[in-house]
Amino acid sequence: MTLATTATQVPVRVDDDKCIAHKGCTVCVDVCPLDVLAIDIVKGKAYMAFDECWYCLPCEQDCPTGAITVDIPYLLR
Ligand code: SF4
Ligand code: SF4
Repeated sequence: MTLATTATQVPVRVDDDKCIAHKGCTVCVDVCPLDVLAIDIVKGKAYMAFDECWYCLPCEQDCPTGAITVDIPYLLR
């Protein structure tokens, strides 16, 4: 698995202002079949830890606050 280097390069973006991981939410981490999402304990926000994504979208659809945006590559649309 390729380590995600910077948050701006990965396909799954988390809006830190909307993410409520600091209140205990782990929905996106739980629904991701590849376990590529994680919670940054220090920031209390979700982020993409591994740059491997199936673009299956439950993370975006199930996030209770709409904090997640999945950028689907053009060729996969
Ligand atoms: S599901 Fe949404 S609010 Fe919950 S941890 Fe993930 S990004 Fe944050
Ligand atoms: S789109 Fe699917 S594989 Fe990609 S991060 Fe979300 S749940 Fe995981």
